[in-house]
Amino acid sequence: MRVSGLFLSTQREIPADAEIPSHQLMLRAGLIRKEASGIYSFMPLGFRVYRKVENIIREEMDKAGAQELIMPALLPAEAYKASGRWDRFGPEMFRLHDRGGRDFCLGPTHEESFTEAVRDNIRSYKQLPVTLYQIQHKYRDEKRPRFGVMRSREFVMKDAYSFDCDEEGLDKSYNIMYDAYRKIFDRMGLDYTIVDADSGAMGGSGSQEFMVKSDVGEDGICYCGKCGYAANEEKAATCAPAPSEEEMKDIEKILTPDAKTIEELVSFLGTTPDNFVKTILYNADGRIVAVMVRGDREINETKLVNLLGANELELAAFDDVEQITGAKVGFAGPVDLKKKIEVIADIEVASMRNFIVGANETDYHFKNVNIGRDFTPDTVADIRSAVEGDLCPKCKEGTLSLARGIEVGHIFKLGTKYSKALGCIYLDKEGKENNMIMGCYGIGVSRTMAAVIEQHHDDDGIIWPEGIAPYQVIIIPTKTNDETIMNLAEDLYSKFTEAGAEVLIDDRNERPGVKFKDADLIGIPMRITVGRAAGEGKVEVKFRNSSDVSEVEASEALRMAGF
Ligand code: ATP
Ligand code: MG
Repeated sequence: MRVSGLFLSTQREIPADAEIPSHQLMLRAGLIRKEASGIYSFMPLGFRVYRKVENIIREEMDKAGAQELIMPALLPAEAYKASGRWDRFGPEMFRLHDRGGRDFCLGPTHEESFTEAVRDNIRSYKQLPVTLYQIQHKYRDEKRPRFGVMRSREFVMKDAYSFDCDEEGLDKSYNIMYDAYRKIFDRMGLDYTIVDADSGAMGGSGSQEFMVKSDVGEDGICYCGKCGYAANEEKAATCAPAPSEEEMKDIEKILTPDAKTIEELVSFLGTTPDNFVKTILYNADGRIVAVMVRGDREINETKLVNLLGANELELAAFDDVEQITGAKVGFAGPVDLKKKIEVIADIEVASMRNFIVGANETDYHFKNVNIGRDFTPDTVADIRSAVEGDLCPKCKEGTLSLARGIEVGHIFKLGTKYSKALGCIYLDKEGKENNMIMGCYGIGVSRTMAAVIEQHHDDDGIIWPEGIAPYQVIIIPTKTNDETIMNLAEDLYSKFTEAGAEVLIDDRNERPGVKFKDADLIGIPMRITVGRAAGEGKVEVKFRNSSDVSEVEASEALRMAGF
């Protein structure tokens, strides 16, 4: 391809609304174009990369025995209503109706459609197992679309679904996908970690996420350097510490005027936050519960949702808090609640002695509070977020470290959630009906592109790994009006083209500096400069991932490119 004819516009300035390197570089290199918030077009250069990512995924899925098909993105509501997700998706689902008033949605993920397709086509255990997949646009009206194609509202996903007779079969299908995912992300040159993920609300028996390590990642990863345990922050378990052996002291009500936050209390009482227990009221599907964690900890809402089996969880309204505690917000505590509600204490709280809590009276706290004597929680459970330095919940020897990650893939043992809801059954050897056991497996194609850039760029631009670069080689003649230079450059271009290379020739009448800058920005792995030494048949070769420049015979350049 001749750069003079390439549908491309690069830009030097960093676009104002792009916060992270991959988003900035994708816009600057002209790979994508914003149509609306969270909605992007892929331009020719970007689309070449998109297709390569897609093809790597396709090759590995096919090798793993999964069969590709394509489903509509525009889907009738019925199956989602039957599975309960028409409601559960809430505002994240794009909904519309046809001229006859029937409800439709733009598919956010396709468990329902695949389950129905398999239900209607498979009768017997003899036809199982089967794994099907598609690579297709998905639609989610994200609360905060951001970072370009990293979190967008229309995005490309590879979604696969496995159907088995039993748990053992599911484990097999799951492991095949696990291995295929590793091959896919290895081929893309990604440095990633596989973490245990939350499978709570979907009701499955296990799930793992493929996390690309990156400071701009939206997910937290907890990992143990000693035993290799790695889990999403949402899921990472915490251990109950040994119970405190401190003597119980007498409970005291203390005046703490204007001190509502932990910080204000700490300075007012001259103590440390780990002597406090905060009591936060939540509204879980309309029911109010009190949740207690140590003053310096955070409540993990994913753990809480799973514990309560709730669909919707939010902080209780101020009015509810005041009515239940009888005090202004900021003074809630477990002792003498005006209106009894369920009290849930974190496992760490259960081993504390003589702590401080709100007194359910404006401007007052209780000091030297103790479980068993002053109150008894209804439930004690692990409901706080793990933090750096926590004891590893697996080996109980190492400590947890925290890192950020971008979730590019997710594999999930679904079990019978969808097959039950949609009647997806098979007949076993005895002719008995059973629900199929399902797994689902997603990869964000567009997010993966962005993740690759996050890990492969420098100040000058993108450094594409060879396997997904839009073109492998760029030939840059330094002067387009110099016959010797142009002859050699054109000759090389023909040879590369004949050899089947994906090659660009920058035949624009621009200064070499401009061409080099563009080549670096779009990240072509190999650059061949044809300049002064053209008379001797020599060219300069530079690889994008190294600063070395070597002067070689033109034929040697072909060899260096692997042709
Ligand atoms: P997240 O926690 O980031 O919202 P998710 O758990 O909703 O992700 P899944 O439903 O498991 O994601 O979707 C499978 C894959 O699709 C994810 O691993 C991710 O790579 C990709 N993905 C999900 N949401 C988006 C989005 N809004 N934009 C781009 N890719 C996405
Ligand atoms: Mg999501």
